[in-house]
Amino acid sequence: MRFSRFPISTTKETPADAEVISHQLMLRAGLIKRIAAGIYTWMPLGLKVVRNVERVVREEMENAGAVELSMPVVQPAELWEESGRWEQYGPELCRLKDRHDRDFCLGPTHEEVITDLAKTEIRSYKRLPVNFFQIQTKFRDEIRPRFGVMRSREFVMKDAYSFHEDQASLEETYWRMHEAYSTIFDRLGLDYRPVEADTGSIGGSHSHEFHMLAESGEDDIAFSTESDFAANVELAEGLMPVAVEQEAAALEVFDTPNAKTIDALAKHYDVPAASSIKTLFVEDAKGELVALVLRGDHQLNEIKAEKIEGISQPLRMAQETAVKNATGASFGSLGPVGLDTRVVVDRAASVLVNFVCGANEDDKHFRNANWGRDVKNFEVADLRTVVAGDPSPCGKGVLEIKRGIEVGHIFQLGTKYSEAMNATVLDQNGKSVPMTMGCYGIGITRIVAAAIEQNHDENGIIWPGAMAPFWVVLIPLGMDKSEAVATAAETMYADLKTAGVNVAMDDRKERPGVKFADCELMGIPLRVTIGERSLNEGVVEVQGRRDSEATNVALESAVAFVADSLKKH
Ligand code: ATP
Ligand code: MG
Repeated sequence: MRFSRFPISTTKETPADAEVISHQLMLRAGLIKRIAAGIYTWMPLGLKVVRNVERVVREEMENAGAVELSMPVVQPAELWEESGRWEQYGPELCRLKDRHDRDFCLGPTHEEVITDLAKTEIRSYKRLPVNFFQIQTKFRDEIRPRFGVMRSREFVMKDAYSFHEDQASLEETYWRMHEAYSTIFDRLGLDYRPVEADTGSIGGSHSHEFHMLAESGEDDIAFSTESDFAANVELAEGLMPVAVEQEAAALEVFDTPNAKTIDALAKHYDVPAASSIKTLFVEDAKGELVALVLRGDHQLNEIKAEKIEGISQPLRMAQETAVKNATGASFGSLGPVGLDTRVVVDRAASVLVNFVCGANEDDKHFRNANWGRDVKNFEVADLRTVVAGDPSPCGKGVLEIKRGIEVGHIFQLGTKYSEAMNATVLDQNGKSVPMTMGCYGIGITRIVAAAIEQNHDENGIIWPGAMAPFWVVLIPLGMDKSEAVATAAETMYADLKTAGVNVAMDDRKERPGVKFADCELMGIPLRVTIGERSLNEGVVEVQGRRDSEATNVALESAVAFVADSLKKH
């Protein structure tokens, strides 16, 4: 590729509306152009990176036995009605009507379309297992599109769906996908971790997310300091602490006129947050109040709360008026003593002795409250979000929390869609059974941004080799004035192409400084500078993007040197 004919559109200015470094650098290097919130054009340079990611993903999916197809972006509402998601999906689903007033949506994911396909295509267990994948544009009307293509509304996903006769076959494919994902992220040169993830309302079965660790990540991941345990904090279990033996003291009420929060209680009344509890009210599935009790310094994990039998899903917090009617007190003075609602206590709160809690009377709290003696009816559950320093649920070490960007997700769906949509096969005994399914996603375009989060410096992007839009850029100095430079550059360019190296030549009419800066900003792994002075000495200058100094390489061996560097990477 000659840059004189390639639209390089770099800029020096940091775009004001780009918060994270990857978004800034993608705009500055001219990889993407925004046309509306969360909607971008991939410029030629950016598209090369996307294609590189796609190529690795496609190869490894095929190596793992998946077969490619391409499903439509526009999907009829009927399929979504069959699965029940036309109602459930909410405003992230972009709905539209055709000229006949029929309902359609833009595919945010393709379980419905693929299940419908499998239902008509696959009738017998003999054709199972099968794993279909596609690499395709998705649309989700995200509530908060941000960070450029990291959380956009239109994005490219690799999605795969597998069909099986039974759970054992699903598990085999699931772990094969787990392995394929690890190979993909290794080949792309990314720092990632597979982490255990929430399976949502389906529950029971397995799910893993693949996260790239980065400060700008939107997920918190819990890691053990002593094992390779890793889980999304949405899921990570808070263990039952060992109870401390302590004498129960007499229950006392005390005035707390300016303590509506745990912080205020700590500040004005010298009550450590860890020895007080807070009581939150939610609704159960029937709309009745349920009190959820946590230690003062812990946070409610809504996903865990939703999974408790009988609790509303999605979780609904109770209205203050309803709470006041039931307890006699306003928010800030609530507690479990004397309540006649259902009470669910987090494990960590359940081992406290002589704790402080609201007295269900405005501006009053209890001191020395105790489970059993003062609160007779309660259940204990894992309700809180784990924090750094908690014992790891794997039994070894303590938890550390780091931010992660979710770039992949594998999921055992079971028979959720096949049952709803009646996708059955005849099994070995001639009996009709719903197919067991798995689904496997990779955020192709999100990976491009996440890779930059992990690989950049003050001068710009540093592409991992497999993702780089070009492996090497030749920068001839004064090509139009020097015959020797022009000949050397053209020969080298042609030879590198023959050797199969993805090479570009910066033959633009720009100053060398501009070319060097662009090459760094665009993150090209290697740069070869060809100038008259060094040619007189029989050498060209080769500089790796991560190197601080250039090395002189003899002109005759420069092509082999570049081709070799590609092999080594
Ligand atoms: P998130 O929690 O980040 O919203 P998700 O659970 O909705 O992700 P999936 O439905 O599992 O995501 O989609 C598969 C993959 O698609 C994700 O792992 C992610 O890499 C990518 N992805 C999802 N939403 C977006 C988006 N808005 N922009 C870019 N990539 C996305
Ligand atoms: Mg999402």
